[in-house]
Amino acid sequence: MIRGRFAPSPTGELHAGSLVAALASWLDARSLQGEWWVRMEDVDGPRCIDGAAAKILQQLSLCRLHSDGEVLYQSHRNDIYQQVLNQLIAKGLAYPCACTRKEIEEQQVSLGLSLERHKSAVYPGTCRNGLDGKPARAWRFNVTQWSTLRESPDVHWIDRRLGPQVQNVQEEVGDFVLKRADGLWAYQMAVVVDDAAQNISHVVRGEDLTDNTARQYLLQEALGFEHPHYLHTPLVLGFNGEKLSKQNDAKALDLSSPRAVCLAMQSAASTLGLSTLKLHSCDSADLDEALSTWTQEWAQRHKRASP
Ligand code: GLU
Repeated sequence: MIRGRFAPSPTGELHAGSLVAALASWLDARSLQGEWWVRMEDVDGPRCIDGAAAKILQQLSLCRLHSDGEVLYQSHRNDIYQQVLNQLIAKGLAYPCACTRKEIEEQQVSLGLSLERHKSAVYPGTCRNGLDGKPARAWRFNVTQWSTLRESPDVHWIDRRLGPQVQNVQEEVGDFVLKRADGLWAYQMAVVVDDAAQNISHVVRGEDLTDNTARQYLLQEALGFEHPHYLHTPLVLGFNGEKLSKQNDAKALDLSSPRAVCLAMQSAASTLGLSTLKLHSCDSADLDEALSTWTQEWAQRHKRASP
């Protein structure tokens, strides 16, 4: 069974960039005669905004994108994530960490490693063999241990749009966080557990997330989950050439009239390289017809369900 998903974080309303991910994942699932489910990635409670989840669902509905299954809220799933963490601990694949961010950066500098802007420091493995009497703060995945149990530390995977990818997570990321020092679940943990729990076979999301896939692959392996197929879509760039995101004040989508909805959908489709269709009345029948034409175009482009 083919199942795709759209997994927004309700830290704000949909913007032009997130609509592209929503549309692409919908077209992909439909072109493969599969289901499309919406999941609210609201694990990072402090960053979520009241009412944003409801607003996103309303915006999707105006765009004629409806979840085939019940919308799952990650904030309701603490116990499940804890059970999975316990499994990893029992297998010796997760360990507590006492390091603060500052300490990790200092350790990295003392190892002669440079700190790149906008990139978190590679974790040097300080607490892998014990906390040295310090209190535990976060929980980390033991990438190093898992890498010795698989054939090679290099994670190879194929993106359906970008082609073959490889990352040595051990060297480029290090043992990454599963549960944060503030007690919140890390994105990697929640997304892997939920993609598996919801039987997601096809993940379609923005290209800025490409770099997370190798980490998710490792976790899936360690937990005995199947890997979904991945496709990362082009990003919508703002005037400054940076990715449009809620953080850089992407404007909320104007969906205030049927014409505005059509324009927003046409623009999302054009980011995906789909043809610009003339939408006459912009009513829901018109939009449904456009969606079905785009679905056919998408099917032509990504003929195979797997890479
Ligand atoms: N919740 C993530 C976001 O809104 C998307 C995660 C994913 O699709 O894997 O950026």
